[in-house]
Amino acid sequence: MITKILTIHSIDKLTEWIRLSEINNDSERFLSVFIQIFSSQRDPKWMMDIESILRTAIPQGVIVGASTMGEIAEGQLLINATVISFAFFEKTLIQGILISGENQTEAPMGKQLAEKIENQCHNIAGVMLLATPYTMDVSDFLKGFNAGRRQNYPVFGGGAGDYEAVQEPLIILNNNYTAKGALAIVFMGDDIHIDIYTYLGWQPLSKEMTITETDGLWVKTIDDQPAFDVFYRYLDIQNDEDFFYNVLEFPLLLKRNGIEYAKTPMEVNTDNEIKFITNINEGESVCIGYGNPAVMIEKAKDIQNHIQIFNPEAIFLYSCICRRFLLQSEVDLETKPFETIAPTAGFYTFGEICSQGKEVVMLNATMLAVSMKEGEGKRPVIGFENRIAKTESLDPFTSQHTRIISRLVNFIKVVTKELEDANAEARRLAERDYLTQAYNRMKAHEFIENEIERCNRYDLEFSAIMLDMDFFKKVNDTYGHNAGDEILIHLVKLLTLEIRKIDMLSRWGGEEFLIIMPLTNLEGARITAERIRAIIELTFFPRNLSQTCSFGVTAYKKNESIEMFVDRVDKALYEAKRMGRNCVVTK
Ligand code: GH3
Ligand code: MG
Ligand code: MG
Repeated sequence: MITKILTIHSIDKLTEWIRLSEINNDSERFLSVFIQIFSSQRDPKWMMDIESILRTAIPQGVIVGASTMGEIAEGQLLINATVISFAFFEKTLIQGILISGENQTEAPMGKQLAEKIENQCHNIAGVMLLATPYTMDVSDFLKGFNAGRRQNYPVFGGGAGDYEAVQEPLIILNNNYTAKGALAIVFMGDDIHIDIYTYLGWQPLSKEMTITETDGLWVKTIDDQPAFDVFYRYLDIQNDEDFFYNVLEFPLLLKRNGIEYAKTPMEVNTDNEIKFITNINEGESVCIGYGNPAVMIEKAKDIQNHIQIFNPEAIFLYSCICRRFLLQSEVDLETKPFETIAPTAGFYTFGEICSQGKEVVMLNATMLAVSMKEGEGKRPVIGFENRIAKTESLDPFTSQHTRIISRLVNFIKVVTKELEDANAEARRLAERDYLTQAYNRMKAHEFIENEIERCNRYDLEFSAIMLDMDFFKKVNDTYGHNAGDEILIHLVKLLTLEIRKIDMLSRWGGEEFLIIMPLTNLEGARITAERIRAIIELTFFPRNLSQTCSFGVTAYKKNESIEMFVDRVDKALYEAKRMGRNCVVTK
């Protein structure tokens, strides 16, 4: 396998290069030639002109193209250019399939493409997919693709974009093109090896929020507020035509099955709903993320080390447009070192397509690095460390803006953590009794109200135990208030050990405590009360004092009010007192 990368700004340059390189004579000895065009110009005529010149020179070439938002050649970002990458294969067969989405919905289209691939191709080693995210729902398309896919080959690729964000992407395959559709390039053979790596490098900035309403791509509310409010409140981003560019560096981050995902907003409407490039589900926890350039570049280095061991002959990068926006003039620090391993071409995408095991998903805000080789690869491994180090030393000390960003991201993270801790402590203080650290009466009220709602809705039961120290006044009078306090603290410790984790212990009044027991009937609560009563009776409290308690027990009756419920347990306790104390009364 041999690769060549060419950058052009005019058709003349292409013609001239083909003439000088004598590529047409050269290419005949290869089994197949894979040619990719990444172009800033989404004009079909421009793409088709290039295609026809290339086809004349290399008739057996499989030619694909995509309009992009930034091209990568030799590991470097080019702007307003057209990059042509040639891969000459000795033992690998390549086939392209284009499928238009003009007259069909996405899921059947995806299924059809997957089936076509497996019906028409044998010995599949990998598939590249390009799609047009502006004009179709790629998540749905991939759902269909996954449904139609039977074999487990690696899949990689990206969404075509366009510079002006006029939402007119273009993909081409040989003589055809479409502004709405998808295409697959199938690599076949025993000697072709394809390795895929992805990484994110974004970090959470805001607190966690919950997606409360969404239809998949359009998120309507976050924490029950219009979705856009989140971006307005935290980032002062306006609901105007620049929304996409302003919000691009702040994807929402979430975790699914332990894997981190970033979701980039794409559009906002007048109802303050936000459309994302890939789907988000109701109930998912998200936070606003921001890229820490230092982390991104560090992660790129990790991947480069892995790729070096794989020893590829070509590397294709599909990197999200938002990384380009974030890293700005330092963007090449992430991509350039790949070129030291193997010729590196690619483009800045509008969503990255990648297989994760059996499933093919559309990622966002990621860097997708695809390594290829035929056989063992040709480049020697030695000297790699030096080559990486050399590129690194190109890193000038002028990367000041990324360093400032790294510090600010860290600053915000630390401040957010400090505020969250302070909030958690304030919440704890607001709901606990200062002396004993049991929950206070206000919190108990809230807990009972929730429990009542739950039980009425799901037809569950719960019970309560109210207990009161017997003749406690005498303890204070005899041994002093401090002794009384110590006994109260000791009692709470004892009670905490005797109840379940889901039970709730509160200090209802002076020396009176309420235990709420979810999923417990009257008999269960009575048995618990009796057990606790007996333990207290046998306990040596501080200063070797003995103490008893009286207990009232009751179970919640469907649809009764909180007052009726609490009143009944109070009456049960009163009766226990009347019956001579140190006993349990149920009501
Ligand atoms: P009974 O068996 O009828 O409940 O008798 P009692 O003495 O326990 O009842 P009473 O309601 O007359 O007195 C409750 C006492 O609890 C009065 C008060 O001094 C004491 N107490 C309430 N809160 C605290 C506290 O935080 N610390 C201390 N040391 N004592 C408290
Ligand atoms: Mg008492
Ligand atoms: Mg009392």
